[in-house]
Amino acid sequence: KLYNQVQDLKGSIRVYCRVRPFLSGQSNYVSVVDHIEDGNITVNAPSKHGKGQRSFSFNKVFGPSATQVGVFADMQPLIRSVLDGYKVCIFAYGQTGSGKTFTMTGPKELTEKSQGVNYRALGDLFLIADQRKETYRYDVSVQMIEIYNEQVRDLLVTDGTNKRLEIRNSSQNGLSVPDASLVSVSSTSDVINLMNLGQRNRAVGATALNDRSSRSHSCLTVHVQGKDLTSGAILRGCMHLVDLAGSERVDKSEVTGDRLKEAQYINKSLSALGDVIASLAQKNPHVPYRNSKLTQLLQDSLGGQAKTLMFVHISPEPDAIGETLSTLKFAERVA
Ligand code: ADP
Ligand code: MG
Repeated sequence: KLYNQVQDLKGSIRVYCRVRPFLSGQSNYVSVVDHIEDGNITVNAPSKHGKGQRSFSFNKVFGPSATQVGVFADMQPLIRSVLDGYKVCIFAYGQTGSGKTFTMTGPKELTEKSQGVNYRALGDLFLIADQRKETYRYDVSVQMIEIYNEQVRDLLVTDGTNKRLEIRNSSQNGLSVPDASLVSVSSTSDVINLMNLGQRNRAVGATALNDRSSRSHSCLTVHVQGKDLTSGAILRGCMHLVDLAGSERVDKSEVTGDRLKEAQYINKSLSALGDVIASLAQKNPHVPYRNSKLTQLLQDSLGGQAKTLMFVHISPEPDAIGETLSTLKFAERVA
């Protein structure tokens, strides 16, 4: 028991990998994944010398037939620690189309069964809070923001305003974006309404050719305050659920202007995130939080006793192998 507590106090970084299944119409494709065994994944990575394979190890690998329930089951201990007062960050990383939004939110036509981590996490929070109601009183509230071109915007506005928000560390109430809407939630239907609002706001400005959601980071932050009913002591936990911008490298010779600028911002912030997590994993005394808005935003929730889960996504198509390898290498570096 004591050993477990000590382990708990250390905080942790875990890395999971999920392989998207082929989509309808791709039934005759052959996956780049050769095999998955426990936390190991081996992909076919032909080089100029011919056939080749590369293997990578993670804390867990989910194959294409993994279900939303199965994936979430592994995250449940993290949800419990939020109610115990810990800080938790869960990231979805991968190229556009690899399944990040599917994992965090779900598919476009959402059913209860296909709900992603965001819905399930909040559902579980309410459930556990209810189980503890004799000893604790919990208040749960959420913020939802987007980082696009290194600018932070509120996704829970109801009046269409779109003003830039500042990140402040160590603000009085412990919020790193104190000016973003903070909405109290007490049921799964509250959560569904808010997520819909956030998704509608995120779609503003996007056109068919210009799916901004894949080029911005979106972050759902859940703040939990628990009051011990006997002692009156207050504990605070929080959880950041982050759907990152697509990690694909764009060809600088093919894009110019706004697209190039976007790509450079994404590149910079994903490398900054990788650098922060890698230095935490290596117990490096200097952690470079200041290099991007994303890492500034999460500074108080990465490192120390906080728990981090990097969930990397890969596509099974052979022609995506270049991006797949760079995703797996990114993940290997932070593991
Ligand atoms: P990303 O957010 O990384 O760009 P999406 O989550 O939008 O990728 O996934 C791309 C497409 O693949 C979507 O149509 C999505 O519903 C589908 N998809 C992704 N992952 C899965 C999965 N595990 N099972 C079934 N369909 C999936
Ligand atoms: Mg997406």
